Formats: sequence, C-alpha cells, structure tokens
Amino acid sequence: MKGRSLLMIPGPVESEPEVLAALADPATSHVAPAFIEIFGRALERLRVVFNCPDGQPFIVAGSGTLAMDLLAANLTEPGMCALVVSTGYFGDRFGDMLTRYGAEVTHLRAPIGGAPTPAEVDAALSLRRYHLLTITHVDTSTGVRADVQGIAAVARRHDVLCLVDGVCSVGGEALDMTGWGVDAALTASQKALAVPPGLALAVAGPRALSAFQARKTPVASYYSDWSLWLPVMQAYEARRPAYFATPAVNLVHALEVSLAQIVAEGMEARVARHRRLSDALKAGIAALGLNQVPLHPELAATTLTAVYYPDGVDASLLPKVAAAGVILAGGLHKEIRDRYFRIGHMGTVRPADILATLGALETGLAAAGYRFDHGAGVAAAQSALIA
Ligand code: PMP
Repeated sequence: MKGRSLLMIPGPVESEPEVLAALADPATSHVAPAFIEIFGRALERLRVVFNCPDGQPFIVAGSGTLAMDLLAANLTEPGMCALVVSTGYFGDRFGDMLTRYGAEVTHLRAPIGGAPTPAEVDAALSLRRYHLLTITHVDTSTGVRADVQGIAAVARRHDVLCLVDGVCSVGGEALDMTGWGVDAALTASQKALAVPPGLALAVAGPRALSAFQARKTPVASYYSDWSLWLPVMQAYEARRPAYFATPAVNLVHALEVSLAQIVAEGMEARVARHRRLSDALKAGIAALGLNQVPLHPELAATTLTAVYYPDGVDASLLPKVAAAGVILAGGLHKEIRDRYFRIGHMGTVRPADILATLGALETGLAAAGYRFDHGAGVAAAQSALIA
C-alpha cells in the first residue's frame, strides 16, 4: 500500500477492520429492532469497561468535550464550589466549563509534568466545603497520569463528588469506578476504545445520579440534559425504541463491535498490554537520550508518551518522522508547546507498532542532525518486549 502510514498520535487512533466495517453498513433506522439490540449491548458493555455495574451509561453523538459537558452541565448548579485537580490543558477546560455553569472553581495545579498528590487534594478539600472535584486521569497535553484511586478515596472522605475525565485513559489505563469510588467518568470514542471520533461516552454512578435528582435548578444546557437522555438510555437498554436526538447509528454499531473486542480481550489483559508496550517505547526513548515531560516514571501514562526534543532539534522533526512512515503529534500544553512532541499508543497498538515508531523516530532524528547510536532505541524496546 503506497502512502500507508502508521498513526501513532494520542487520538484519533487506528481501528480494527471489523470496527471500520460497521461504519460501512447501510444506515439503519434508530428504532429498528436490530439497532436497538446493538445500542443496548453497547450500553451494557460500557458498564463493564468503566466497572460500574450500578451506574447509568450515556452514549451521545459528539466528541469528548461533549462528554465533559454531560457531567458539568448536569452536576453543577450556580454557587457550587468545585476543585479542579489539574495536570495540564484539559484540567483548564473542565474548569472553564464548570465556571460557565456557575460554579466557583479553584484549580489545584502541579508544576508541568507533575500531579497533585492525594495528600495535597486532602489539604485543599479541608480549607472549605466543596461540592465536586474533577480529575483528568491522563492529561493528553503532558502524558501525566493522576492517582485517581488515591484522590477518589480522599474525595469520598470529604463527601465531595468525584468526576473523572478519562478521555485519554478509559480502555487503556485501569479505571475501577466502583472499586475506587469514582462518581462519574467520561471518555470519547476515538482514543483507547479504538473507534473513530464522534461519540461522547459517560457513566454516572449512584451518587452522581442522586445529586442530579436533587438539583434545584434546571440544567442550563439543552442537548446535555440528562432528564432528556435518561429515558432514551433506559429504553434502549430495556430493548425498547426511544428518541430524543438521532443517534449516530453507524458509530454506535462500530462502538458495539469494538467494546465486544475489548471485553473479549479482558480489561486486565488490555491494561497489561498497554503497560508492556508503553514500557518498551519509553525504554527506547530513554536509550536515545531523550527526556519525557512527566517528572517521574510513575507519573507517566501508558496510553501516550510526551517527549522533549533534544538540543538542536525542533518541531521540524515531525515531518521527517512522517516521511519515514509514522505520524506523531506536536505539543499541546501552551507553556511548552514548541519544546516537545507526543506519541500515542493506545487501542489496537501491537509490539510491531512500537518498533516501527522507534525506527521512524530514529530516521527522523538522524535527518535532523541529532547524534545517537543508530538502532539504540529499537534495541532497547526490543529487549523490553522480549524480556
Ligand atoms: N479530555 C482529554 C484528556 C482529552 O485528551 C481530550 C481530547 N484530546 C478531551 C478531553 C476533549 O475531547 P475531544 O477533543 O474529543 O472533544
């Protein structure tokens, strides 16, 4: 296939052929019995992927930002206090959204590449009464993974609703909503769930649903309002037709196919695969003498790797790597945007993709004039994979 390249960015990611084939089906009625079954199964499988058996899943046409809105609009009322535990760009976005819905927002930030610890969150929550907090599980702008388990436990002790942006984690990193006490979490189709972009996905746990039911003011967003979506989701799961706004029928089918593959792989095995491949890639990056944005290895996500350009190399590296067949992403965090690049490795990623990525990166680095031991990155990753 002339012109074929490997897409290794932190979303959208590549999809399995069976998932893509679902997109090519002739469009169906959203109330056709076969589609109702597909929608119902997709909702059931989302419960498994988020590990929230008693939660309410939502599948709505839109992107990850809409999924954030589904939580922000329904769980915020004017005058509420919200703590945004921020590890980069997407924490700021959650803060903006909560402010828009009338919350009084406090940001708890860490230096770039760091993450607030549960103890720091505990201290912040002790200062005043908060109603909710948000955590970006993996901030795609820094490649930092927050300690959701530790922070959710602290939130529960303070009786604060804990909302998790899992756009860059769900389906790749471990996320145990019920076990960890996460009250609501969200993702989008185009990252570790390995479906093309276009679906906003969220799961509300029992405490989030009670908080929603106890609202005193109407939801300020029409499209995100759970009172309009809840009957639809409940109907599809009960295998009955329903309508509020037309579902993206082909994307929902593609999601259902991908979720079936994910559940068949098993969440534990899937998380372990992401970790193993991430470790191998990061070993290769280190062997090339490159530094990562996360300040400590234990803060580094397994769904992507954020890497500083070495001295003398800039963003012109990326087209050189692309010419060698692998597409990588540039920087996103505004304070360091031009100083680093990002490699996504989630969803369908395999060992061969890691080796090909390091091979193309080495080709690009050599073309950019960076001096290193040719093959060192590939060799380190191969050793990690074979070990
Ligand atoms: N949160 C995180 C952590 C993300 O990585 C992204 C997208 N990169 C979003 C939210 C927003 O998702 P979308 O671009 O699909 O609206």
